[in-house]
Amino acid sequence: MDRQQEFVLRTVEERDVRFIRLWFTDVLGMLKSVAIAPAELESAFAEGIGFDGSAIEGLTRVYEADMVARPDPTTFSLLPWRGETQGTARMFCDILNPDGTPSLADSRNVLKRSMDRASEQGFTFYTHPEVEFYLFETPTKGGPLIPIDHGGYFDHVARPAGHDFRRQVITMLESMSISVEFSHHEAGPGQNEIDLRYADALTTADNLMTFRTVVKEVALEQGVFASFMPKPLADQPGSGMHTHFSLFEGDRNAFHEPGAQYELSKTGRQFIAGLLHHAAEITAVTNQYVNSYKRLWGGSEAPSYVCWGHNNRSALVRVPMYKPGKSNSTRIEYRAIDTAANPYLAYAITLAAGLKGIEEGYELPDATEDDVWHLTDAERRAMGIKPLPEDLDEALDIMEGSEFVAEVLGEHVFDYFLKNKRAEWNDYSRQVTPFELNRLLQVL
Ligand code: GLN
Ligand code: MG
Ligand code: MG
Ligand code: MG
Repeated sequence: MDRQQEFVLRTVEERDVRFIRLWFTDVLGMLKSVAIAPAELESAFAEGIGFDGSAIEGLTRVYEADMVARPDPTTFSLLPWRGETQGTARMFCDILNPDGTPSLADSRNVLKRSMDRASEQGFTFYTHPEVEFYLFETPTKGGPLIPIDHGGYFDHVARPAGHDFRRQVITMLESMSISVEFSHHEAGPGQNEIDLRYADALTTADNLMTFRTVVKEVALEQGVFASFMPKPLADQPGSGMHTHFSLFEGDRNAFHEPGAQYELSKTGRQFIAGLLHHAAEITAVTNQYVNSYKRLWGGSEAPSYVCWGHNNRSALVRVPMYKPGKSNSTRIEYRAIDTAANPYLAYAITLAAGLKGIEEGYELPDATEDDVWHLTDAERRAMGIKPLPEDLDEALDIMEGSEFVAEVLGEHVFDYFLKNKRAEWNDYSRQVTPFELNRLLQVL
Protein backbone atom coordinates (compact mmCIF):
# COMPACT_ATOMS: atom_id res chain seq x y z
CA MET A 1 0.00 0.00 0.00
CA ASP A 2 1.40 3.40 -0.95
CA ARG A 3 1.36 6.60 1.09
CA GLN A 4 -1.63 8.08 -0.72
CA GLN A 5 -3.67 4.96 -0.06
CA GLU A 6 -2.67 5.00 3.60
CA PHE A 7 -3.69 8.65 3.81
CA VAL A 8 -7.14 7.77 2.46
CA LEU A 9 -7.59 4.92 4.93
CA ARG A 10 -6.52 7.13 7.84
CA THR A 11 -8.80 9.99 6.77
CA VAL A 12 -11.77 7.68 6.39
CA GLU A 13 -11.23 6.47 9.93
CA GLU A 14 -10.49 9.87 11.49
CA ARG A 15 -13.41 11.60 9.78
CA ASP A 16 -15.78 8.70 10.39
CA VAL A 17 -16.63 8.41 6.71
CA ARG A 18 -19.38 5.81 6.18
CA PHE A 19 -19.55 5.50 2.41
CA ILE A 20 -16.94 5.84 -0.29
CA ARG A 21 -18.28 6.46 -3.74
CA LEU A 22 -16.20 5.18 -6.61
CA TRP A 23 -16.73 7.44 -9.61
CA PHE A 24 -16.03 6.84 -13.26
CA THR A 25 -17.33 8.17 -16.54
CA ASP A 26 -18.96 6.40 -19.46
CA VAL A 27 -18.05 7.12 -23.07
CA LEU A 28 -20.74 9.82 -23.36
CA GLY A 29 -19.40 11.63 -20.31
CA MET A 30 -22.07 10.57 -17.82
CA LEU A 31 -20.91 10.08 -14.25
CA LYS A 32 -21.25 6.58 -12.76
CA SER A 33 -21.00 5.87 -9.06
CA VAL A 34 -20.84 2.82 -6.82
CA ALA A 35 -20.62 3.13 -3.05
CA ILE A 36 -18.46 0.84 -0.94
CA ALA A 37 -18.10 0.46 2.82
CA PRO A 38 -14.83 1.55 4.46
CA ALA A 39 -14.02 -2.12 5.16
CA GLU A 40 -13.78 -2.74 1.40
CA LEU A 41 -11.24 0.02 0.78
CA GLU A 42 -8.06 -1.98 1.12
CA SER A 43 -9.13 -4.58 -1.37
CA ALA A 44 -10.51 -1.86 -3.70
CA PHE A 45 -7.01 -0.36 -3.81
CA ALA A 46 -5.35 -3.74 -4.24
CA GLU A 47 -7.65 -5.42 -6.74
CA GLY A 48 -10.35 -2.92 -7.67
CA ILE A 49 -14.09 -3.54 -7.55
CA GLY A 50 -15.68 -5.76 -10.18
CA PHE A 51 -18.80 -4.64 -12.03
CA ASP A 52 -20.85 -5.49 -15.09
CA GLY A 53 -19.44 -3.29 -17.85
CA SER A 54 -22.07 -4.29 -20.38
CA ALA A 55 -24.63 -2.25 -18.47
CA ILE A 56 -22.60 0.96 -18.93
CA GLU A 57 -22.72 3.02 -22.14
CA GLY A 58 -19.81 2.13 -24.37
CA LEU A 59 -17.75 0.14 -21.91
CA THR A 60 -17.92 -3.42 -23.19
CA ARG A 61 -19.75 -5.78 -25.42
CA VAL A 62 -21.99 -8.28 -23.65
CA TYR A 63 -19.61 -11.21 -24.06
CA GLU A 64 -16.77 -9.44 -22.25
CA ALA A 65 -18.81 -7.89 -19.49
CA ASP A 66 -16.56 -8.13 -16.44
CA MET A 67 -14.73 -4.91 -15.66
CA VAL A 68 -12.82 -3.59 -12.69
CA ALA A 69 -12.88 -0.08 -11.20
CA ARG A 70 -9.74 0.81 -9.23
CA PRO A 71 -9.85 4.04 -7.21
CA ASP A 72 -7.17 6.69 -7.66
CA PRO A 73 -6.27 7.74 -4.08
CA THR A 74 -4.99 11.15 -5.21
CA THR A 75 -8.59 12.09 -6.06
CA PHE A 76 -10.02 11.41 -2.59
CA SER A 77 -12.42 14.06 -1.31
CA LEU A 78 -15.32 14.33 1.10
CA LEU A 79 -18.65 15.27 -0.50
CA PRO A 80 -19.73 18.41 1.39
CA TRP A 81 -23.41 18.08 0.48
CA ARG A 82 -23.57 14.72 2.29
CA GLY A 83 -22.83 16.37 5.64
CA GLU A 84 -19.83 16.66 7.96
CA THR A 85 -20.47 13.68 10.20
CA GLN A 86 -20.82 10.06 9.13
CA GLY A 87 -20.12 11.45 5.73
CA THR A 88 -19.51 10.28 2.22
CA ALA A 89 -16.32 10.59 0.20
CA ARG A 90 -15.46 9.92 -3.40
CA MET A 91 -12.53 8.87 -5.56
CA PHE A 92 -12.25 8.71 -9.34
CA CYS A 93 -11.43 5.29 -10.74
CA ASP A 94 -9.44 3.85 -13.56
CA ILE A 95 -11.30 1.16 -15.44
CA LEU A 96 -9.35 -2.06 -15.92
CA ASN A 97 -9.88 -5.34 -17.68
CA PRO A 98 -10.03 -8.42 -15.42
CA ASP A 99 -6.34 -9.07 -16.20
CA GLY A 100 -5.41 -5.65 -14.77
CA THR A 101 -4.62 -3.93 -18.07
CA PRO A 102 -6.26 -0.51 -18.66
CA SER A 103 -9.60 -0.74 -20.42
CA LEU A 104 -9.59 0.78 -23.90
CA ALA A 105 -13.13 1.98 -23.23
CA ASP A 106 -12.15 4.18 -20.28
CA SER A 107 -12.26 7.80 -21.38
CA ARG A 108 -10.02 8.79 -18.47
CA ASN A 109 -7.47 6.44 -19.99
CA VAL A 110 -7.93 8.00 -23.43
CA LEU A 111 -6.94 11.35 -21.91
CA LYS A 112 -4.03 9.78 -20.02
CA ARG A 113 -2.70 8.38 -23.30
CA SER A 114 -2.81 11.83 -24.92
CA MET A 115 -1.12 13.36 -21.87
CA ASP A 116 1.59 10.64 -22.00
CA ARG A 117 2.20 11.54 -25.59
CA ALA A 118 2.62 15.18 -24.56
CA SER A 119 4.99 14.26 -21.76
CA GLU A 120 7.16 12.23 -24.16
CA GLN A 121 7.79 15.59 -25.81
CA GLY A 122 8.41 17.21 -22.45
CA PHE A 123 5.00 18.91 -22.14
CA THR A 124 2.26 19.06 -19.53
CA PHE A 125 -1.13 20.17 -20.85
CA TYR A 126 -2.95 22.75 -18.73
CA THR A 127 -6.58 23.72 -19.15
CA HIS A 128 -8.86 26.39 -17.76
CA PRO A 129 -12.55 25.94 -18.61
CA GLU A 130 -15.26 28.60 -18.64
CA VAL A 131 -18.39 26.67 -17.80
CA GLU A 132 -21.75 28.13 -18.79
CA PHE A 133 -25.15 26.82 -17.71
CA TYR A 134 -28.74 27.94 -17.26
CA LEU A 135 -30.81 28.13 -14.13
CA PHE A 136 -34.54 27.63 -14.56
CA GLU A 137 -37.49 27.42 -12.27
CA THR A 138 -38.13 23.74 -11.67
CA PRO A 139 -40.19 22.78 -14.73
CA THR A 140 -43.42 20.92 -14.48
CA LYS A 141 -43.54 18.02 -16.93
CA GLY A 142 -43.97 19.45 -20.41
CA GLY A 143 -44.27 22.98 -19.01
CA PRO A 144 -42.31 25.94 -20.41
CA LEU A 145 -38.71 26.64 -19.35
CA ILE A 146 -38.66 29.76 -17.19
CA PRO A 147 -35.22 31.27 -16.47
CA ILE A 148 -34.83 32.32 -12.82
CA ASP A 149 -34.02 35.95 -13.72
CA HIS A 150 -33.86 38.44 -16.57
CA GLY A 151 -30.18 39.30 -16.16
CA GLY A 152 -27.62 39.74 -18.95
CA TYR A 153 -23.84 39.69 -19.32
CA PHE A 154 -22.08 40.64 -16.05
CA ASP A 155 -25.38 41.98 -14.68
CA HIS A 156 -25.59 42.44 -10.97
CA VAL A 157 -29.05 40.98 -10.63
CA ALA A 158 -31.35 42.41 -7.95
CA ARG A 159 -33.07 39.15 -7.28
CA PRO A 160 -30.17 37.39 -5.60
CA ALA A 161 -30.95 33.78 -6.58
CA GLY A 162 -28.06 33.60 -9.06
CA HIS A 163 -25.53 35.16 -6.65
CA ASP A 164 -26.47 32.84 -3.86
CA PHE A 165 -26.33 29.96 -6.25
CA ARG A 166 -22.84 30.75 -7.52
CA ARG A 167 -21.63 31.49 -4.02
CA GLN A 168 -22.78 28.11 -2.70
CA VAL A 169 -21.36 26.22 -5.67
CA ILE A 170 -17.99 27.95 -5.29
CA THR A 171 -17.89 27.36 -1.53
CA MET A 172 -18.53 23.66 -2.06
CA LEU A 173 -15.94 23.40 -4.81
CA GLU A 174 -13.32 25.21 -2.74
CA SER A 175 -13.98 22.86 0.17
CA MET A 176 -13.15 20.04 -2.26
CA SER A 177 -9.90 21.84 -3.25
CA ILE A 178 -11.26 22.90 -6.64
CA SER A 179 -10.29 26.54 -7.17
CA VAL A 180 -12.59 28.93 -8.96
CA GLU A 181 -11.21 31.95 -10.75
CA PHE A 182 -14.23 33.95 -11.93
CA SER A 183 -17.98 33.73 -11.85
CA HIS A 184 -20.62 35.99 -13.29
CA HIS A 185 -24.02 36.22 -14.85
CA GLU A 186 -23.88 35.32 -18.55
CA ALA A 187 -25.71 36.92 -21.46
CA GLY A 188 -28.90 34.83 -21.36
CA PRO A 189 -31.63 35.19 -18.71
CA GLY A 190 -30.79 32.80 -15.88
CA GLN A 191 -27.48 31.95 -17.56
CA ASN A 192 -24.36 31.78 -15.40
CA GLU A 193 -20.67 31.14 -15.86
CA ILE A 194 -18.12 29.75 -13.44
CA ASP A 195 -14.47 29.49 -14.50
CA LEU A 196 -12.21 26.92 -12.88
CA ARG A 197 -8.60 27.80 -12.18
CA TYR A 198 -6.16 26.18 -14.56
CA ALA A 199 -4.84 22.73 -13.76
CA ASP A 200 -3.44 19.81 -15.73
CA ALA A 201 -6.08 18.46 -18.10
CA LEU A 202 -6.73 15.21 -16.20
CA THR A 203 -7.37 17.13 -12.99
CA THR A 204 -9.56 19.60 -14.90
CA ALA A 205 -11.63 16.80 -16.44
CA ASP A 206 -12.11 15.18 -13.01
CA ASN A 207 -12.97 18.63 -11.60
CA LEU A 208 -15.58 19.16 -14.31
CA MET A 209 -17.32 15.89 -13.43
CA THR A 210 -17.42 17.11 -9.82
CA PHE A 211 -18.52 20.56 -10.93
CA ARG A 212 -21.56 19.27 -12.80
CA THR A 213 -22.55 17.18 -9.81
CA VAL A 214 -22.14 20.10 -7.40
CA VAL A 215 -24.23 22.39 -9.62
CA LYS A 216 -27.03 19.81 -9.74
CA GLU A 217 -26.88 19.28 -5.95
CA VAL A 218 -26.99 23.00 -5.17
CA ALA A 219 -29.86 23.47 -7.63
CA LEU A 220 -31.87 20.78 -5.85
CA GLU A 221 -31.11 22.36 -2.51
CA GLN A 222 -32.17 25.83 -3.69
CA GLY A 223 -35.28 24.61 -5.51
CA VAL A 224 -34.10 25.60 -8.97
CA PHE A 225 -33.21 23.52 -12.00
CA ALA A 226 -29.74 23.66 -13.62
CA SER A 227 -28.99 22.54 -17.15
CA PHE A 228 -25.80 22.18 -19.16
CA MET A 229 -27.74 21.58 -22.36
CA PRO A 230 -25.87 23.43 -25.15
CA LYS A 231 -28.90 25.33 -26.48
CA PRO A 232 -31.98 25.07 -24.29
CA LEU A 233 -33.66 28.27 -25.56
CA ALA A 234 -33.82 28.87 -29.32
CA ASP A 235 -33.65 32.65 -29.06
CA GLN A 236 -31.06 32.97 -26.31
CA PRO A 237 -27.30 32.25 -26.24
CA GLY A 238 -26.21 28.66 -25.84
CA SER A 239 -23.97 27.34 -23.07
CA GLY A 240 -20.40 26.76 -24.14
CA MET A 241 -17.28 25.58 -22.36
CA HIS A 242 -14.55 27.70 -23.90
CA THR A 243 -11.30 26.24 -22.65
CA HIS A 244 -7.91 27.95 -22.37
CA PHE A 245 -4.97 25.73 -23.22
CA SER A 246 -1.27 25.95 -22.52
CA LEU A 247 1.69 23.59 -22.64
CA PHE A 248 4.33 23.80 -19.95
CA GLU A 249 7.87 22.45 -20.07
CA GLY A 250 8.55 22.11 -16.37
CA ASP A 251 7.91 25.59 -14.99
CA ARG A 252 8.20 27.28 -18.35
CA ASN A 253 5.19 28.18 -20.46
CA ALA A 254 6.06 26.77 -23.89
CA PHE A 255 3.47 29.08 -25.51
CA HIS A 256 5.26 32.23 -24.34
CA GLU A 257 7.91 34.04 -26.34
CA PRO A 258 8.79 37.62 -25.41
CA GLY A 259 8.53 39.98 -28.34
CA ALA A 260 6.69 37.57 -30.64
CA GLN A 261 3.27 38.48 -32.08
CA TYR A 262 0.83 38.32 -29.12
CA GLU A 263 3.87 36.98 -27.19
CA LEU A 264 2.96 33.60 -28.70
CA SER A 265 5.83 31.16 -29.37
CA LYS A 266 6.29 28.99 -32.43
CA THR A 267 5.08 26.02 -30.35
CA GLY A 268 1.90 27.95 -29.56
CA ARG A 269 1.40 28.84 -33.23
CA GLN A 270 1.87 25.23 -34.30
CA PHE A 271 -0.55 24.07 -31.61
CA ILE A 272 -3.21 26.42 -33.02
CA ALA A 273 -2.40 25.23 -36.53
CA GLY A 274 -3.04 21.65 -35.39
CA LEU A 275 -6.37 22.60 -33.86
CA LEU A 276 -7.48 24.40 -37.01
CA HIS A 277 -6.27 21.61 -39.29
CA HIS A 278 -8.26 18.97 -37.40
CA ALA A 279 -11.15 21.16 -36.20
CA ALA A 280 -13.83 19.65 -38.43
CA GLU A 281 -12.78 16.06 -37.61
CA ILE A 282 -12.90 16.57 -33.85
CA THR A 283 -16.13 18.55 -33.64
CA ALA A 284 -18.31 15.47 -33.09
CA VAL A 285 -16.27 14.82 -29.94
CA THR A 286 -16.27 18.39 -28.61
CA ASN A 287 -19.93 18.89 -29.61
CA GLN A 288 -21.59 15.52 -29.32
CA TYR A 289 -25.34 16.17 -29.40
CA VAL A 290 -27.85 17.12 -32.10
CA ASN A 291 -28.53 20.13 -29.90
CA SER A 292 -24.84 21.17 -29.84
CA TYR A 293 -25.08 22.40 -33.43
CA LYS A 294 -27.95 24.72 -32.59
CA ARG A 295 -25.51 26.51 -30.31
CA LEU A 296 -22.65 26.52 -32.83
CA TRP A 297 -24.89 27.96 -35.55
CA GLY A 298 -27.08 30.08 -33.30
CA GLY A 299 -24.85 33.17 -33.07
CA SER A 300 -24.27 34.77 -29.64
CA GLU A 301 -20.49 34.37 -29.74
CA ALA A 302 -20.43 30.63 -30.38
CA PRO A 303 -17.92 29.84 -33.17
CA SER A 304 -19.14 28.67 -36.59
CA TYR A 305 -16.01 29.07 -38.73
CA VAL A 306 -12.50 27.64 -38.56
CA CYS A 307 -10.13 30.54 -38.02
CA TRP A 308 -8.11 32.17 -35.29
CA GLY A 309 -7.70 35.72 -34.06
CA HIS A 310 -6.46 37.86 -31.22
CA ASN A 311 -9.37 39.51 -29.56
CA ASN A 312 -11.80 38.13 -32.12
CA ARG A 313 -14.82 36.54 -30.49
CA SER A 314 -16.12 35.22 -33.78
CA ALA A 315 -13.04 33.00 -34.18
CA LEU A 316 -12.79 29.34 -33.21
CA VAL A 317 -9.41 29.92 -31.56
CA ARG A 318 -8.60 33.13 -29.79
CA VAL A 319 -5.30 34.31 -28.32
CA PRO A 320 -6.34 36.39 -25.34
CA MET A 321 -4.62 39.60 -24.36
CA TYR A 322 -1.15 39.02 -22.88
CA LYS A 323 -0.80 40.29 -19.31
CA PRO A 324 2.50 42.21 -19.16
CA GLY A 325 5.08 40.52 -16.98
CA LYS A 326 3.04 37.33 -16.66
CA SER A 327 4.60 34.82 -19.00
CA ASN A 328 2.33 32.10 -17.63
CA SER A 329 -0.72 33.95 -18.92
CA THR A 330 0.07 33.34 -22.62
CA ARG A 331 -2.48 30.79 -23.71
CA ILE A 332 -4.99 30.00 -26.41
CA GLU A 333 -8.74 29.70 -26.08
CA TYR A 334 -10.65 26.99 -27.96
CA ARG A 335 -14.25 28.12 -28.20
CA ALA A 336 -16.16 25.21 -29.76
CA ILE A 337 -16.37 22.78 -26.82
CA ASP A 338 -19.72 22.75 -25.08
CA THR A 339 -20.54 21.96 -21.50
CA ALA A 340 -22.21 18.66 -22.44
CA ALA A 341 -19.05 17.14 -23.90
CA ASN A 342 -17.21 14.27 -22.25
CA PRO A 343 -14.35 16.40 -20.85
CA TYR A 344 -11.85 13.53 -20.93
CA LEU A 345 -12.42 12.86 -24.63
CA ALA A 346 -12.70 16.55 -25.53
CA TYR A 347 -9.33 17.35 -23.92
CA ALA A 348 -7.70 14.17 -25.25
CA ILE A 349 -8.65 15.07 -28.82
CA THR A 350 -7.84 18.79 -28.67
CA LEU A 351 -4.45 18.06 -27.08
CA ALA A 352 -3.70 15.45 -29.75
CA ALA A 353 -4.67 17.90 -32.53
CA GLY A 354 -2.38 20.57 -31.08
CA LEU A 355 0.50 18.11 -30.65
CA LYS A 356 0.02 16.99 -34.23
CA GLY A 357 0.49 20.60 -35.31
CA ILE A 358 3.81 20.66 -33.44
CA GLU A 359 4.98 17.23 -34.69
CA GLU A 360 4.11 17.97 -38.31
CA GLY A 361 5.18 21.61 -38.14
CA TYR A 362 1.87 22.80 -39.62
CA GLU A 363 1.95 26.34 -40.95
CA LEU A 364 -0.44 28.72 -39.21
CA PRO A 365 -2.64 30.77 -41.56
CA ASP A 366 -2.90 34.52 -40.94
CA ALA A 367 -4.99 35.67 -38.03
CA THR A 368 -8.48 36.94 -38.87
CA GLU A 369 -9.52 40.10 -37.14
CA ASP A 370 -12.77 40.53 -39.09
CA ASP A 371 -16.08 39.52 -37.67
CA VAL A 372 -16.30 36.32 -39.73
CA TRP A 373 -20.06 36.00 -39.24
CA HIS A 374 -20.58 39.20 -41.22
CA LEU A 375 -18.43 38.27 -44.21
CA THR A 376 -20.11 36.79 -47.28
CA ASP A 377 -19.51 33.16 -48.22
CA ALA A 378 -17.38 34.36 -51.12
CA GLU A 379 -15.26 36.55 -48.84
CA ARG A 380 -14.74 33.69 -46.42
CA ARG A 381 -13.80 31.36 -49.27
CA ALA A 382 -11.30 33.86 -50.60
CA MET A 383 -9.73 34.02 -47.13
CA GLY A 384 -9.65 30.20 -46.87
CA ILE A 385 -12.05 30.16 -43.92
CA LYS A 386 -14.09 26.94 -43.76
CA PRO A 387 -17.25 26.34 -41.72
CA LEU A 388 -17.43 23.92 -38.81
CA PRO A 389 -19.81 20.99 -39.44
CA GLU A 390 -23.35 22.30 -39.59
CA ASP A 391 -25.02 19.43 -37.81
CA LEU A 392 -24.25 16.18 -35.99
CA ASP A 393 -24.72 14.15 -39.16
CA GLU A 394 -22.05 16.09 -41.03
CA ALA A 395 -19.74 16.04 -38.00
CA LEU A 396 -20.04 12.25 -37.79
CA ASP A 397 -19.36 11.81 -41.51
CA ILE A 398 -16.17 13.81 -41.16
CA MET A 399 -15.15 12.02 -37.97
CA GLU A 400 -15.77 8.61 -39.51
CA GLY A 401 -13.22 9.33 -42.25
CA SER A 402 -10.56 10.48 -39.78
CA GLU A 403 -7.69 8.12 -39.04
CA PHE A 404 -6.43 10.74 -36.62
CA VAL A 405 -9.57 10.62 -34.44
CA ALA A 406 -9.69 6.80 -34.61
CA GLU A 407 -6.12 6.62 -33.38
CA VAL A 408 -6.56 9.08 -30.51
CA LEU A 409 -9.83 7.62 -29.21
CA GLY A 410 -8.83 4.05 -29.95
CA GLU A 411 -10.88 1.72 -32.12
CA HIS A 412 -13.31 0.73 -29.37
CA VAL A 413 -14.35 4.24 -28.28
CA PHE A 414 -14.33 5.45 -31.89
CA ASP A 415 -16.72 2.72 -33.07
CA TYR A 416 -19.00 2.95 -30.08
CA PHE A 417 -19.20 6.72 -30.26
CA LEU A 418 -20.09 6.72 -33.95
CA LYS A 419 -22.71 4.01 -33.49
CA ASN A 420 -24.35 5.74 -30.55
CA LYS A 421 -24.36 9.15 -32.21
CA ARG A 422 -25.67 7.81 -35.54
CA ALA A 423 -28.59 6.36 -33.60
CA GLU A 424 -29.21 9.77 -32.00
CA TRP A 425 -29.20 11.44 -35.41
CA ASN A 426 -31.58 8.84 -36.84
CA ASP A 427 -34.01 9.23 -33.93
CA TYR A 428 -33.89 12.98 -34.41
CA SER A 429 -34.41 12.86 -38.16
CA ARG A 430 -37.46 10.64 -37.86
CA GLN A 431 -39.35 13.22 -35.79
CA VAL A 432 -42.33 15.02 -37.22
CA THR A 433 -41.76 18.34 -35.49
CA PRO A 434 -44.09 21.14 -34.36
CA PHE A 435 -42.24 23.27 -36.94
CA GLU A 436 -43.43 21.04 -39.79
CA LEU A 437 -46.95 20.73 -38.41
CA ASN A 438 -47.28 24.50 -37.95
CA ARG A 439 -45.98 25.24 -41.41
CA LEU A 440 -47.65 22.52 -43.39
CA LEU A 441 -50.67 20.91 -41.79
CA GLN A 442 -53.13 23.70 -42.62
CA VAL A 443 -51.78 24.77 -45.98
CA LEU A 444 -51.35 21.41 -47.64
N1 GLN B 1 -22.34 31.56 -24.70
C1 GLN B 1 -21.32 31.75 -25.71
C2 GLN B 1 -20.99 30.39 -26.34
O1 GLN B 1 -21.84 29.59 -26.41
C3 GLN B 1 -20.09 32.41 -25.14
C4 GLN B 1 -20.32 33.79 -24.62
C5 GLN B 1 -19.08 34.37 -24.01
O2 GLN B 1 -18.57 33.86 -23.05
N2 GLN B 1 -18.56 35.40 -24.56
O3 GLN B 1 -19.91 30.10 -26.79
MG1 MG C 1 -15.78 33.92 -19.88
MG1 MG D 1 -18.95 33.12 -21.21
MG1 MG E 1 -14.25 32.83 -23.32
